[in-house]
Amino acid sequence: MSLSAPPSETGDHRLVLIGAPASGKGSQAKRLAKKLGIRHLSTGAVIRDHMRRKTELGERCRDTMNEARLVPDEIVMEVVASEIGNHHGGYVLDGFPRTLQQAEMLDDWLDQRVSALTAVISLEVPKEDLEQRVLSRVVCLDCGYPFRLGERVTSVDQACPECGGQLGQRADDNIGMFHQRYGEFEAVTVPVIDYYRRQGLLQTVDGGQLPDEVFTEIENLLDLQPSRS
Ligand SMILES: [Zn+2]
Repeated sequence: MSLSAPPSETGDHRLVLIGAPASGKGSQAKRLAKKLGIRHLSTGAVIRDHMRRKTELGERCRDTMNEARLVPDEIVMEVVASEIGNHHGGYVLDGFPRTLQQAEMLDDWLDQRVSALTAVISLEVPKEDLEQRVLSRVVCLDCGYPFRLGERVTSVDQACPECGGQLGQRADDNIGMFHQRYGEFEAVTVPVIDYYRRQGLLQTVDGGQLPDEVFTEIENLLDLQPSRS
């Protein structure tokens, strides 16, 4: 028996999903994790949870956040290591690595564990389409159900079709915030995409399609059995 980290089982998926704000990567990551029975790790959600519970890590994140409310790369890497370090199955990382430094830290960490990513999937959506999604996004303030204007609801003044509650637009959905986050994505995350392209790990998916079509394309590139015929 080896004392080093056990090699992963055949067919284990160790994935990274990358996409711009509003690209739909969060919901695709969740769906993919469910289909493969692997861990979905959204670093943003984990960090927010630590901060809410005021854990030692959460307090450290809060203390070291910069003006853009970003947690330093070292601490984000620590969060990832603590979440998947003792986890022997596959995983899909969502929201990480978002900087080139994080990508390099992840590689070093994986090297030490004699492990490697199996694929990096980039959801590509034109900026104008993302903008349109942000503008048309509506959420129920009571039950949290997300809608898009023009689908089941046509106005934010309507009652929620799910629970009859009041609809509203998410505070972080305003277009100014979108432009700021998109600018950050171009500046810090696009180099991460190039980094993985040079490693030969990158797979690109047309994220402008309907969610089901995007998912089917992901299934195909990972050689998975289709969910629907
Ligand atoms: Zn509702």
